[in-house]
Amino acid sequence: MAPTFADLNLDPDVQRAVDAMGFEEPTPIQAQTIPLLLEGHDVLAQAQTGTGKTAAFALPLVQRVDTARREVQALVLAPTRELAVQVAQAVHDLGRTRKVAVLPVYGGQAYDRQLRGLRAGVHVVVGTPGRVMDHIRRGTLDLSTVRTVVLDEADEMLDMGFVEDIEFILNQVPEERQIALFSATVPRRIAVLSRHYLRNPQRVTVAQDAVTAPQTRQMYVEVQQRDKVEALTRILDLESPSSAIVFCRTKREVDELSATLDARGYTSVAIHGDVSQSQRERLLLAFREGRSELLIATEVAARGLDIPDVTHVFNYDIPDDAEAYVHRIGRTGRMGRKGDAVTFVTPREMRQLRWIERAIRKNLRQVRIPTPGDIAARRREALLTSLVATVESGEARLYAPLVAELATEHDPQELAAAAIYLANGGAGGRHEDIAAVPHPDPQDLPDGEGGMTRLYMKTGRQHGVRPKDVVDAFTAEAGIPPQSIGAIDMFGDFTLVEVERKAATLVLERASTLVFEGREVDVTLARPRDTPKGPRPGPPHTPRKRPRRPKG
Ligand code: ADP
Ligand code: MG
Repeated sequence: MAPTFADLNLDPDVQRAVDAMGFEEPTPIQAQTIPLLLEGHDVLAQAQTGTGKTAAFALPLVQRVDTARREVQALVLAPTRELAVQVAQAVHDLGRTRKVAVLPVYGGQAYDRQLRGLRAGVHVVVGTPGRVMDHIRRGTLDLSTVRTVVLDEADEMLDMGFVEDIEFILNQVPEERQIALFSATVPRRIAVLSRHYLRNPQRVTVAQDAVTAPQTRQMYVEVQQRDKVEALTRILDLESPSSAIVFCRTKREVDELSATLDARGYTSVAIHGDVSQSQRERLLLAFREGRSELLIATEVAARGLDIPDVTHVFNYDIPDDAEAYVHRIGRTGRMGRKGDAVTFVTPREMRQLRWIERAIRKNLRQVRIPTPGDIAARRREALLTSLVATVESGEARLYAPLVAELATEHDPQELAAAAIYLANGGAGGRHEDIAAVPHPDPQDLPDGEGGMTRLYMKTGRQHGVRPKDVVDAFTAEAGIPPQSIGAIDMFGDFTLVEVERKAATLVLERASTLVFEGREVDVTLARPRDTPKGPRPGPPHTPRKRPRRPKG
């Protein structure tokens, strides 16, 4: 049985802080490391991004602080300013009920502010290695009372060249101390660091499989470099993600893509190594608060940022290796939520995709670039769904008297059409693609028996139409061979015609309107027999409008 927080021996006031965060049960890394840390063990913990490592060390840390003593008892080192701030916030939130005082200390912020905080006396300091070292050298941070040190995102701190700073800092803390090292990966250098500084460390690893979240759908699109922008915008239009991260390989690509997307009416923020810290924080906030729908970033810049609730990760460029891939897609599908990860692969990169698949022991599903027809169909579906949901909820009923009044003089169907027209932006709206009868892609046509597709026409025996007329019309107007036409079921006022799949596409493209006995008749796809009538119920969802430049 999965452990609960109640199994972890947290003090009641710490448990209250957990409840206030809305955490229902511990994540695997939390369940495994919290008891060890509470017992005072050194721990080397490995788990991917997004698995809840912060609370895994923050909870034992706030529980073990002696709040009666106003001195620095714990030090957390984190690779970047953003992370230091995030971790400090988490320690603050989880330590609130115990009145644990925490101070973030990082480069780029004025020293005097940090000095004031340090002098006031705090229990926990969270800092970047460089700035912490500066404070130690200046004599403004005394580590002689520290009992616990946490190295968060240790692999990244080493990647960023902090190893000497970290060693310097670890040499300043008393012999009697606990060290916890948290890392997404454990390369050799981490193992070496751990051997030198940790005592009898308990190693906790959360298996990779548990981590490539099963609720994340992993897909790839084969696309030429020059078609990537178009492919991305079509997927965005089809999926309407509320928040998505797009990973690019270079800073220039990040800037260019962001500018291109903004010009097309999307809202994006661009983050890479040349973006200043304060700028980054501002941009990230815009993204977190939903003012921007897209975060476009290089992998390095995005590392370790805590970005909640990303519904989509796009690898605009295929990652260099499996580890980077897993790290990137770890941004979605967190904590049991659903997520989509879409990787763009040029034909030349297919081999690299296969390597990644082999390493993660999973095949990505190939999806095709959505066609404009797909997008129109999705909008139509969203429209229908929201209409039906509104009818069913009864919310719109307050307009019923008005409609009744209007209906004495106008056709209710015409009224409904006008209402939809207005709801879709009236004269300025883009109506054609939503209103048009869809022309499905051949590969989307539903198969009838034996590769046949059923078409529907609202004309039948009572109009004097015979099966031979249908065959004649189809062969003459759509140019399909008579052999491609199968069973013709004629009813009183409608007809179902089975046609071979490819031929059916031609009919829909070339002969979607035919004339029988002087009447114009639309040819459409028949509903699959086993599909219940009416659109599927779902969350109300309105198609979005965005300003758009005509494509040149
Ligand atoms: P990591 O450091 O492993 O990348 P974080 O500690 O940043 O992951 O946690 C990722 C997200 O999961 C955060 O938004 C955090 O609030 C949330 N989270 C952490 N623990 C839990 C839990 N037990 N239940 C639900 N959400 C959690
Ligand atoms: Mg973390």
